[in-house]
Amino acid sequence: MPRSARVLGATALAAALTSALTAFPPPADANAPAATRPTSVAQTPVARRTPPTASVHTTRHLTVARGPHAVPSTGGLRLAPLARGPLTGRTIVVDPGHNGRRSRVNDRLVPAGGGRTKPCNTSGTASRSGASEHAFTWNLANRTATELRRRGATVVLTRPNDRGVGPCVDERAAIGNRARADLVLSIHADGNTSRRARGFHIITSTRMTGGPAAQRASTRYAMRVRTAFARTGMPRSTYLGRGTALTPRTDIAGLNLSRRPAIMLEAGNMRHPTDAALLAKPSFRAKAARLLADATQQTLRR
Ligand SMILES: [Zn+2]
Repeated sequence: MPRSARVLGATALAAALTSALTAFPPPADANAPAATRPTSVAQTPVARRTPPTASVHTTRHLTVARGPHAVPSTGGLRLAPLARGPLTGRTIVVDPGHNGRRSRVNDRLVPAGGGRTKPCNTSGTASRSGASEHAFTWNLANRTATELRRRGATVVLTRPNDRGVGPCVDERAAIGNRARADLVLSIHADGNTSRRARGFHIITSTRMTGGPAAQRASTRYAMRVRTAFARTGMPRSTYLGRGTALTPRTDIAGLNLSRRPAIMLEAGNMRHPTDAALLAKPSFRAKAARLLADATQQTLRR
């Protein structure tokens, strides 16, 4: 909605708001390359639509309803270590990709690095049977956080729950920067619609704010995670990374804006039934969390 909505009369504003809500497009995985974005994905419910008579306020880019989901969360959630161990003194940021909830505020454009902008966030992709990416990332991120805390690490989760509108992608990078994270692990699952597209891959940025040193450290972390994650039973990606399961990119805001070593794991392709079944298994998730903690520990070995 344009900024001029501010001066519209109440009736016109209500009509404009209704039409904007109706015209609202379905969310896609903001991290998927354009060519692999799913064409049709079962989505989590849209945030409760506010009647046109409710109060509204106009941000720079759009009008959103007032209420608990009008503003993305910021700051993350800091979790203390559960024991002393090999990661004592370390801070790991674990980013459960996406939001628990779809909100129009997700479409606000935020800096993505290199002078580009991107939508604040999305609720991610979903499997053909309706399992959502945001619930998967929330679960695996929490399992991984517990493994890391048991080994002595302080963990910062970028979002505090799986119900609200999580931080925008630029704030997720800022959380890692402010925490002076030793490593940042962003957890996702992909939504590629090709029938043969299977497996995991790891994204790094070749345009990090942290420069070549952060990029080299990120690549080392990515290689450790690749070795570890293959032991979960999920194969390397058949469709990205040319068999290496490593995909350097320039368009991932959360990685571009990081001054700390940071990677993004796409743990499998949720649109492939075999991958989706594996990703849904509690035993797979438990093993994946242990292996991700192993890879993190190996990367930080003094
Ligand atoms: Zn994702």
